[in-house]
Amino acid sequence: MEEDSGFSMLNDDIVLVVFAKLEDDPRHWARVACVCTRFSSLIRHFCWKTKCSQTLPSLLSDSPATCASLLKLAVCCPGLRHAGIAADRDASKNPKTCRKPHLARGNWDLRREQGCKLLARQFRDDCLYLCDWPGCVHPHKKRKYMLFRGIFKDFKTTRVWTSLDGDKRKKLPVECAFCTSRYTWDLHSAFCLRRGFGYQIDGEPVVRAYVCENGHVSGAWTDVPLFS
Ligand SMILES: [Zn+2]
Ligand SMILES: [Zn+2]
Repeated sequence: MEEDSGFSMLNDDIVLVVFAKLEDDPRHWARVACVCTRFSSLIRHFCWKTKCSQTLPSLLSDSPATCASLLKLAVCCPGLRHAGIAADRDASKNPKTCRKPHLARGNWDLRREQGCKLLARQFRDDCLYLCDWPGCVHPHKKRKYMLFRGIFKDFKTTRVWTSLDGDKRKKLPVECAFCTSRYTWDLHSAFCLRRGFGYQIDGEPVVRAYVCENGHVSGAWTDVPLFS
């Protein structure tokens, strides 16, 4: 769809009526936003803002950066590298490996119930929104990875942040998939994840997750081992 294919003759109100028909799946908006700067601006400043304030009101602040990150969170899978997998050189040679963020398959809702399932008991009061199970599924080497993404509300006030900061946990030089933050923290090795998840027979954790200083979470579940 080129903008000069007729859309340029329509005023913004009419274009927005057309865009509103695509509301069921915000990935359509993400694709439309790539067409031209006018569409991108309309999507960001009107469609997505309205949707944000209707569906995720408690997460929305007035900051445009936050809204842009939320849009990205809603529609993008973090990709294997940001989820802590395939950071090795072999993987980068494999063109089939989806290492980078991309439009996610699967549901896009972010829900607190999913977040509660991830965190250890002492962090249950923290407000973490995660995408619905199973997220975006990536076969890689011998496993299937179910990639998820999410966000902590008011991250700097959560117990998870207090615990990471209090321990002076080492941050990893892996940038966030959803904002400009250059570092992330490993929630698994900081004991923030629920205990019962366990390990695969080769020592790989069943669940891993990483968080940036703005509370954006990228992670992956693997199939639970048959004999545990
Ligand atoms: Zn994916
Ligand atoms: Zn971030």
